[in-house]
Amino acid sequence: MVTLNHTKVKELLTAEPKGQDVTVKGWVRTRRGSKKIAFIALNDGSIVHNIQIVADPAAFDPDLLKSITTGACIRATGPLVRSAGSGQPVEIQAKEIEIYGHADPEKYPLQKKRHSMEFLREIAHLRPRTNTFGAVFRIRHHMAYAIHQYFNENGFFYLHTPIITGSDCEGAGEMFHVTNLDLNRLPKTPDGAIDYNQDFFGRETNLTVSGQLEGELGALALSEIYTFGPTFRAENSNTPRHLAEFWMVEPEMAFYEIKENMDLAEDFVKSLVRYALDHCRDDLQFFSKMYDPELIDRLHFVLENSFIRMSYTEAVEILIKSGKKWEFPVSWGSDLQAEHERYLVEQHFKKPVILTDYPKDIKAFYMYQNEDNKTVRGMDVLFPKIGEIIGGSQREHRYDYLARRIREMNLPEKDMWWYLETRRFGTAPHSGFGLGFERLILFITGMTNIRDVIPFPRTPKNANF
Ligand code: ATP
Ligand code: MN
Repeated sequence: MVTLNHTKVKELLTAEPKGQDVTVKGWVRTRRGSKKIAFIALNDGSIVHNIQIVADPAAFDPDLLKSITTGACIRATGPLVRSAGSGQPVEIQAKEIEIYGHADPEKYPLQKKRHSMEFLREIAHLRPRTNTFGAVFRIRHHMAYAIHQYFNENGFFYLHTPIITGSDCEGAGEMFHVTNLDLNRLPKTPDGAIDYNQDFFGRETNLTVSGQLEGELGALALSEIYTFGPTFRAENSNTPRHLAEFWMVEPEMAFYEIKENMDLAEDFVKSLVRYALDHCRDDLQFFSKMYDPELIDRLHFVLENSFIRMSYTEAVEILIKSGKKWEFPVSWGSDLQAEHERYLVEQHFKKPVILTDYPKDIKAFYMYQNEDNKTVRGMDVLFPKIGEIIGGSQREHRYDYLARRIREMNLPEKDMWWYLETRRFGTAPHSGFGLGFERLILFITGMTNIRDVIPFPRTPKNANF
């Protein structure tokens, strides 16, 4: 451990105030008071709450006190005492104050008032210093930790799948190319196509849209693996639930069929919700007070209810019978939209729902084909407020079925030789799914726009910072 000469606000707020000298370092949230007394609210990001520092103006240089403005960074040292005020348990009676960094009140954009989320996105370099973003980023951290803990405790191995990939079978059209060719002078082959032989990797490469295919290779050796990394999709969907760069958690398990896959998905998200309730209380209370009074009830609700499990076909019947006017009409064979998913979860069942057995034509080539020759063993987990939070499936492990589907869908079979080989040598039934990390954070925090649950969002026409 590193020995520091200061103490975190989080620790100070629960320390026994015995008049012991303490040092705190952080950013000023507010300074108020009179000629006789100054109150400084200081935050260091360790917790949503501030510590109060009390200073006697007579004991300090007036210029120094004047520089203690919202946003300034300071150190304060003095005895920790029980607070006379009702707003906080303890306070520091400052004997010394040092200013590390000024924040000119005329120019510092984060003055004490409520700013719009849109404005805060424009100052993503400073927004971590707000209560809201401090809380979001702490919860992100705790959830990432809980994910690793869950898998570690359950015998899964963390497998690092590549970010740059030569496989483009999954997200045709939605991928970001990776190249170091000079775009103004592209080398051409004799027939006029771009000559990727001259590119860095000697072939076309992209940023990954999912670690699944490589994850499967790991599962067919280590039995249970997961990947947790950044994922990139050049989909032009400007929605509150899509990012061009997001993080995905993808477990992949040998010897799991669709039932075990659903069991894992349900147990996994429930354990994450429980972890948040146990470890992020202050931040959850902050979100429920400032943004969403039903947040904590909704989290408990997910924990306490078994998820509904039903087929796509049954869900479509419910949607049609509902008599609702949909923006996107529903019929068997069409993909469900967020409005349909949310109707099922929020109005019809009022519970999280896992839908399975989707029409094969709206799902990927690698899903296990059912006997009916029409549906595949895909599964989507649908959540209140979010819609789809998890997408997964039992994988097609039978060589003949997989090869036939690849041909039917006109996928580049020769590029998939390595994937097909796992079905030729020691194939095994297996399953997996992908949880969108930011969709999880949306659910846990009650925030409504995915741009506000990642430090630096990447969306169409926006890659600032
Ligand atoms: P959607 O229909 O919502 O676009 P999808 O069917 O494309 O999702 P999958 O390919 O199954 O999603 O990806 C697995 C999970 O990754 C999704 O359930 C979701 O939680 C998350 N996800 C997918 N696309 C995005 C995105 N653009 N931004 C953030 N998360 C995403
Ligand atoms: Mn999508």
